[in-house]
Amino acid sequence: MRVLLTNDDGVGAPGLAALCLALQARPGMDVTVSAPERERSAIGHAITLHKPLHANPAEIAGATCPIWSVSGTPADSAKIAVLALMPHRPDLVISGINRGANVGADVMYSGTVSAALEGTLMGIPSLAVSLEGFEGLDYTDASVFVAEMVERLAAAPLPAGDPYLLNVNVPTRPRAEWAGVAVTRLGLRYYDDIIDKRQDPRGRTYYWLAGEVRDHSAHPAEAGTDIWALAQGMVSITPVRFALTDEGVRAALQPWADRLV
Ligand code: MN
Repeated sequence: MRVLLTNDDGVGAPGLAALCLALQARPGMDVTVSAPERERSAIGHAITLHKPLHANPAEIAGATCPIWSVSGTPADSAKIAVLALMPHRPDLVISGINRGANVGADVMYSGTVSAALEGTLMGIPSLAVSLEGFEGLDYTDASVFVAEMVERLAAAPLPAGDPYLLNVNVPTRPRAEWAGVAVTRLGLRYYDDIIDKRQDPRGRTYYWLAGEVRDHSAHPAEAGTDIWALAQGMVSITPVRFALTDEGVRAALQPWADRLV
């Protein structure tokens, strides 16, 4: 199994290192890491067209596979690895393990999901993997789980469909306390947008953009969604496709469009 491992937290991120080592520990895994040289979370699917990209050899303690530090975005890192850095096309692209869940509308902003989607766009089965929470994360259980998933994928391919990726979110709690694995749909996660307006030392106004996840007790997640699964302590697996056309509305919209000319 030839695996391209990437992420959006940067080549030095602990989630990437943990998954790299967990994959490497399994027989028959041929892993290559290609990841941004610095954190590029929430960069979405941006690619670099107007300046050169550099890929430099890097190291992860204990890892023996090729590791590339790329001067671009997560999507760049995946693309350049498949097109230029890897001697053979990978069988699987894995992006992660991200620090923090990527659920609901997060997938639109997520560099983690976008790097996996880049794999999907190149016709390669792809996983995006994120671990819930932000502080004191232990990636061990999630890494072993993903390595097991990859072995399962090597033995039995996924059901065919429109090109899709699997967006995997792992709960923070230890594996012994996981409540199962739910195949879910994207939910709606509510953020309270926060824009801090401040003054710099020269008197110019600047802004800090932030957002806090709203308390779920006030907005209980709909059953069957990724947000709901995490709240239950389950691993969430959402098949996500990039076909964004709303087929349900398309036909109904034509009469409206006919009146535009
Ligand atoms: Mn990230």
